[in-house]
Amino acid sequence: MTDRLYQDLSWNIGDVEITRLVEVILRSPVETLFSDGTNEALAPYSSWLKPNFIDEDDKLILSIHAFLIRAGGLNIIVDTCSGNGKKLPLFSEWNDLDTPFLENMAKLGFPAESIDRVLCTHLHFDHVGWNTKLEGEQWVPTFPNARYLFGETEWGFWSQEEDHFDTGCREQAIIPILDAGLADLVDSNHTINDEISLIPTPGHTPGHVSILISSQGEQAIITGDMFHHPCQMAKPGLLDIGDVEHDRAEQTRIDFMNTYSDGKTLILGTHFATPTSGKIVADGDGFRFVS
Ligand SMILES: [Zn+2]
Repeated sequence: MTDRLYQDLSWNIGDVEITRLVEVILRSPVETLFSDGTNEALAPYSSWLKPNFIDEDDKLILSIHAFLIRAGGLNIIVDTCSGNGKKLPLFSEWNDLDTPFLENMAKLGFPAESIDRVLCTHLHFDHVGWNTKLEGEQWVPTFPNARYLFGETEWGFWSQEEDHFDTGCREQAIIPILDAGLADLVDSNHTINDEISLIPTPGHTPGHVSILISSQGEQAIITGDMFHHPCQMAKPGLLDIGDVEHDRAEQTRIDFMNTYSDGKTLILGTHFATPTSGKIVADGDGFRFVS
């Protein structure tokens, strides 16, 4: 793809290779994602939010993408986007997608059968969709040779919770993996190998985790939905409609920025549009994202 929003981006963190694969790009009015958000409130930050993250019509640009990782002999996919054929009546842009996501993975050197681990930062529908694909009438594992790692806290929550957004993702993208015996329920500090581990970042969902990549003295973190959009670095208290526990999510964002505005940690945003990566920098009494 030539469109820069869809281009394949790659990073090297020490010996670890990370590639971004975009499924779909969304553009959203500020107040659709942040119920107390306004363009006026974000205007002071437009010098770094525009044009990469807010477009000329003042809409938020949101990239739905996966990260494909090669680390220590493992092929890993982090967050599996929305998937094809999922019925999402409340989310028209995501409903019944038919994208060449798996073909694009293969072109990048990650055919589905080569995946060893599937990591889900949390169990919202746009992070688990490609866990499964439709075969006849049945949702079957897309990555038959992988172990799928789900947070034990996260699944403990969603296994009991109403699906308010009627996404069907529990039945379509989680339970088939459990039934196939491919799931491992892990704690929020789980270590995958010497280079990849989970760190707890609760609030967006109760068992939300981010992915820490460390190799040869270099470090990166995949945010998951701890941040939906870089504007939350300036305004961590915005009411994100996706946050299950708002106060906890805000505190997690603040604590995270205090810890990782260290000048050395590359931040890879799970919904941050191109260029997707950057550093968190202290700015007055807040923070900004320098990409
Ligand atoms: Zn989410």
